[in-house]
Amino acid sequence: MAQLKDYQKIILSEISKMAKDKILPMAGTMDKEGKFNLDSAKLLGEMGLLQIFLPPEYGGLEEDQCLMFCLCIEEVAKACASSALTIIIQAVGSFPIIEAGSSEQKDTYFPRLASGKELVAYLVTEPHAGSDVAAIKTKSVRKGDNYLLSGRKCFATNGGVASISTVLCLTGEKELSFFVLDMNANGVFLGKEEDKLGFRASNTQEVILEDVLISEKNLLGKKGEGFVIAMKDFDMSRPGVAALSLGIAESSVEAAIEYACQRHTFGKPLIRHQAIEFMIADALTHIEAGRGLMIEAARTWDKKLKNTKLASMAKYFCSDAAMRITTDAVQILGGYGYCKDFHVERMFRDAKLTQIFEGANQIQRMVVGREALKERGFLL
Ligand SMILES: Cc1cc2nc3c(=O)[nH]c(=O)nc-3n(C[C@H](O)[C@H](O)[C@H](O)COP(=O)(O)OP(=O)(O)OC[C@H]3O[C@@H](n4cnc5c(N)ncnc54)[C@H](O)[C@@H]3O)c2cc1C
Repeated sequence: MAQLKDYQKIILSEISKMAKDKILPMAGTMDKEGKFNLDSAKLLGEMGLLQIFLPPEYGGLEEDQCLMFCLCIEEVAKACASSALTIIIQAVGSFPIIEAGSSEQKDTYFPRLASGKELVAYLVTEPHAGSDVAAIKTKSVRKGDNYLLSGRKCFATNGGVASISTVLCLTGEKELSFFVLDMNANGVFLGKEEDKLGFRASNTQEVILEDVLISEKNLLGKKGEGFVIAMKDFDMSRPGVAALSLGIAESSVEAAIEYACQRHTFGKPLIRHQAIEFMIADALTHIEAGRGLMIEAARTWDKKLKNTKLASMAKYFCSDAAMRITTDAVQILGGYGYCKDFHVERMFRDAKLTQIFEGANQIQRMVVGREALKERGFLL
C-alpha cells in the first residue's frame, strides 16, 4: 500500500527482523523492570533509526523520510512500544536543530547525532502547561551576551538518559524561543522519574533548570520563532505516533487471531463465534483505514506540503483504534489476556499513552476542526 522502492523494502525487512529477533525477546523483561534499556537504544542507533531526519551525509535518509520514519516505528512498536518511542522522541528533539539550527550549530550537533549514541530530550511540557503550550513559564533572562535559563520541565521522555536537549522557553512577554542545551550544563538537575501505567521501559523525567548559563549560540532560529517550530515539529511527529499506535494494534490483533483459532469454547474455536469474528474484522478494518491516513499524512510531509490536518487525523484515529483494539484483544484472550504471560496485557497498557501525548486526542480534534474551517475560509 505504501508503494515502496526495492531498497526501502529491504530496509524495512531488516528493521522488522531486528525488532523480532533482538528487541522482542527483551521487551517483556524491560517492561517488568520498568527501566530504560540502553541495549535497545544502541540497536536503534546502529540501525540508523535515530538519524532518519538528518542530512544523508550524517546518516539520514535521502527521500521519503517521514514515510520511512513511520513504517520503521510501526515495525519496532510491534515488538516494543517503549523502544519505538525512543525513535519518535529522537526525531522530535532533534527537529528544532535540523529546522532552525545555524550552520555552526549543525556542525556541532549533527556529528554527535549521527553517531546514534547520543539521545536528545524534548523539554516543552511543564507542570501547568501541557496541551496549552503557550502557557509555559520557563524563561531565559538576558545577561550580557548570555542567557540565564530557569524553570521546571516535566514528562521529558529520555530526559534522564539524554546528553542533549532542546528547550522551549519564554524570551520575552508571550515570546517563545528554542534553545539547544547540553544536559550536563551547570544548573540542569534531574527531578522525579515518573512511575507509569505503560511504556515502562521508557524514561519519563522531570528536569529542573536553575539559572543555566547559555550563550546566544544556543538559541535555535530567531527569538520568538519557538512556537512555530514546535507546531511544525508536531506535523512530523504525529504521523509517527499514528505508526506507534498501529504497531501496538497490529501485534495485539495478531495475538488475538492466533489465540482465537486455538482456543475452543462450546465445541468450536473462538474465531467461529461471530461476536469474536466481528471484533477481529473491526480491528483489521481500523488498522487498514488508519494506515491509509498515516501514509497520506507522512507522504504530504515528505512533499513539503502542509499536513497539519492529516497529521492530527492520523494521530487520533490510529491511537483511538489502538486503545479499542488492545481492549478487544485482552477480551478475546479472556483471563489469560489479563495476565503477563501474553504480551497483549503490555500492549493494552501502552496503548493508553498514544491517546494522551504529542497532543491529547481532544486537542487533535480541535486542530482538525480549526484547519477544516480555515480551508473553507472561516477564520476564527
Ligand atoms: C509518558 C509521557 C511522555 C511524554 N513525553 C514528553 C516529552 O518528551 N516532551 C514533552 O514536552 N512532553 C512530553 N509529554 C507530555 C505530553 O505531551 C502531555 O502530557 C500532553 O500534551 C497533555 O498535557 P497534560 O498532561 O498537561 O494535560 P492537560 O493539558 O492538563 O489536559 C488534560 C486533559 O484535558 C484535555 N483538554 C485540555 N484542554 C482541552 C480543551 N481546550 N478542550 C478539550 N479538552 C481539553 C486534554 O485532552 C487531556 O485529556 C509526555 C507525557 C507522558 C505521559
